[in-house]
Amino acid sequence: MRAVRLEATGRLHLQEVEKPLPGGGELLIRIEACGICGTDRHLFHGEFPASPPVTLGHEFTGIVEQVGPGVGGFREGMRITVDPNIACGRCPQCQRGKINLCENLQAIGIHRDGGFAEHAVIPEKQAFALPDDIDPVHGAFCEPLACCLHGIDLAGIKTGASVVVLGGGVIGLLVVQLARLAGATDVLLVTRSADKRRLGETLGATASIDPGSGGFPQGLISADGLLPGGADVVIECAGVRETIEQAPSLARSGGTVVILGVMPKGAKVSIEPFDLLFREVSLISSFINPFTHRRAADLIVSGAIKVEPLISRRIGLREAVEAISNPARPGEIRALVLPGLG
Ligand code: NAP
Ligand code: ZN
Repeated sequence: MRAVRLEATGRLHLQEVEKPLPGGGELLIRIEACGICGTDRHLFHGEFPASPPVTLGHEFTGIVEQVGPGVGGFREGMRITVDPNIACGRCPQCQRGKINLCENLQAIGIHRDGGFAEHAVIPEKQAFALPDDIDPVHGAFCEPLACCLHGIDLAGIKTGASVVVLGGGVIGLLVVQLARLAGATDVLLVTRSADKRRLGETLGATASIDPGSGGFPQGLISADGLLPGGADVVIECAGVRETIEQAPSLARSGGTVVILGVMPKGAKVSIEPFDLLFREVSLISSFINPFTHRRAADLIVSGAIKVEPLISRRIGLREAVEAISNPARPGEIRALVLPGLG
């Protein structure tokens, strides 16, 4: 079978490899679609630790082709989505229910072979059933949506709340939709691209703002702005210094900031503890998807979360190496690899 293999930092190739066999408790999946995420590009550049040689791809759906010994919940022909993050279930963090903070966390597509291939073998416990009639490409959004859902859970949005979303990439555009579903009446998207702002408004943002050349959405919280006094919740989805630094000042006193964006290891930002303390602003970080994958899948299956507008292009495995080793195209939100396309 063909697989996109990371051999070492900067060395990514489409290769012919042996088709894997499912062991005990494992499923062999025929991959239908796998999203290209910023993390895949970081892995290529060595900015995120991986275990090469490894097949990349952690946002995927497929059909169960073969079940290994002892598999109980799945049979051949079922469509599934994969939670790529494998917790050990035995360490002190897992024993406290914090599976995303597992001391032995392993990720499919990072530490073991993933979804940019014709087939993959995954542990049964990482598979979640999808209906036969769902577009498999839509199922590939379950993983990023599950990460956003954890952030939304931590944000504690109350009905009628105001929410500012910083960054209109795939994460920000999913968070906009989740914030509306969670009951926020004002959801303001701050992002530089006019196309992303327009898309954000069609997906439920009540307004969208260009941070402007100064990089700070000045008009937003001023006395005559859309949210004088600030937002109940600010969700940072850009992962850049400016947005992380400005997030607390966009929150109202007593408000909450949730950081979803990832900055490079070792990066530092400047935040004023005095302001956090005297205005009692909570600063929360949200890491991956503990126990949110099932709900994410259900939200996509039900149509409550729209993912079709987030798909910029569908490509085959042959084009995947070029797409992963280069930055996303201008305006691109999500590119998906469909092994069936070539
Ligand atoms: P992305 O496509 O790069 O989206 C980030 C967006 O932020 C960009 O599209 C950009 O759009 C916008 N942006 C950049 N600078 C900005 C600024 N100064 N002000 C306002 N907007 C700005 O990435 P993504 O896939 O949506 O992911 C977003 C972040 O979440 C990444 O850091 C990713 O690593 C992280 N992430 C975290 C988790 C988790 O578990 N916490 C899970 C998945 C992803 P414009 O050009 O329109 O400004
Ligand atoms: Zn991802």
